[in-house]
Amino acid sequence: MPSDANTAENYVETPKTLTELHAEIAAGRTRAADLAASYYERIAAVNPRLNVYLGLTKERAMEQAARVDAAAAKGDPLGPLAGVPVGIKDVLVMKGAPATAGSKILEGYRPPYDATPVSKLEAAGAVLLGKINCDEFAMGSSNENSAYGPVRNPVDTGRVPGGSSGGSAAAVAANMAVATLGTDTGGSIRQPASFCGVVGVLPTYGRVSRYGLIAFASSLDRVGPFAANVRDAATLLGVIAGYDPKDATSSPAPVPDYAAESDRPVEGLRIGVPAEYFGEGLDSEVRAAIEKGIESLKAAGCAVKPVSLPTTKYAIPTYYLVATAEASANLARFDGVRYGYRSPSSANLADMYRHSRDEGFGAEVKRRILLGTYALSAGYYDAYYLKAQQVRRLLAEEFLRAFAEVDAIVTPTAPMPAFKLGEKTGDPLAMYLADIYTVTASLAGICGVSVPCGTTKAGLPVGMQVLAAHLNEGTAFRVARAVEAARR
Ligand code: GLN
Repeated sequence: MPSDANTAENYVETPKTLTELHAEIAAGRTRAADLAASYYERIAAVNPRLNVYLGLTKERAMEQAARVDAAAAKGDPLGPLAGVPVGIKDVLVMKGAPATAGSKILEGYRPPYDATPVSKLEAAGAVLLGKINCDEFAMGSSNENSAYGPVRNPVDTGRVPGGSSGGSAAAVAANMAVATLGTDTGGSIRQPASFCGVVGVLPTYGRVSRYGLIAFASSLDRVGPFAANVRDAATLLGVIAGYDPKDATSSPAPVPDYAAESDRPVEGLRIGVPAEYFGEGLDSEVRAAIEKGIESLKAAGCAVKPVSLPTTKYAIPTYYLVATAEASANLARFDGVRYGYRSPSSANLADMYRHSRDEGFGAEVKRRILLGTYALSAGYYDAYYLKAQQVRRLLAEEFLRAFAEVDAIVTPTAPMPAFKLGEKTGDPLAMYLADIYTVTASLAGICGVSVPCGTTKAGLPVGMQVLAAHLNEGTAFRVARAVEAARR
């Protein structure tokens, strides 16, 4: 077990599965109201140390729990998430609840509507506990960029939970929610899932509506679930996925029964292993855990073969051009007029914009706005943004060629296990490099799952990334399920 003395207190048994929970609630053996109350007690006890929740939505949660209990008592049909306590990353809006995106600039902002994935969860019976900490505007890999302080990794509180959805991963790992929503633009669901030892899903671009998501980089942003096991994560994706007329990029493709897909055996599936993800910079204990995971897939009857993804070496610069360019455009709206924080010390309008942005944004967000504005400026557009889009296309084509030969590709989710708080804050480039295995799927628009695959000698979780072609989440779940099963 990890060395941190506080660990044992934070660590609790894995909660019941969604299927078990559903049966208990439907039979009236567990009341949704009691369950929600017990989660709030646990949050009150653990949150001061882990800093996961930024705000609680207790009134709404207890009303929903009462509705579920009343329906169960009458024997009415219950939604697939009836009574399930869920936490929401604070970049997704909930009507009337403060939404900060981890930024001071949104202080005091209360959105007047619900994000589509939020309303879908509630329609399925979920009880929404509150809003969860994250890196400011989802920019970061460690949760240390939140204006409201870092989240701590429940497995070892001296370490980061990963980012930017670190709070969402930590919440599931510390049983402060049965499941959570996060967002992934360049790895922000998969990497924290890996660092905290939980399952995280990157749905295909367009699979889940972005309506009500505070935008970071619109061509890359995805909303996805975290859960303690693969099947539950699959059930959650089934609830939040689907076409939404309020998001023009959402896919009209029908939503399969992902949980059922995840039940299918993997025998005969072809699994690709790209050498480019096992080179220099990969921690040896992470490598060993992933290799063991690959062996378990072979033992389950998969055919494992090498695939080649040579454009991987350009992925980090490509991602950090596209993401910053889009961020600089998306964040232009925060000027102290319409949303949140306004600097009190301004003589005129131009000053108010300048001071509000200067005082409201944190250092990493400013760095990205500067980088993105530069990349988009006249004379540089072709050399940077356009070039990055071309590389992005090559990357996507390379993945599609690989997926003509294999059903899924497996890699480490991150090159290292959870690092120490403060370890990388002085070196933005080192922080960006932590995203090396995740940004490729983000750029290509394909889907993936990070599934716990082993631990280091110090007890730190290691996640395996299972990637599949566009809209092929079912296959990613199947493979992840086999990796999970081999460890039980
Ligand atoms: N770590 C990456 C970044 O800082 C990814 C963030 C994300 O996926 N939201 O941009």
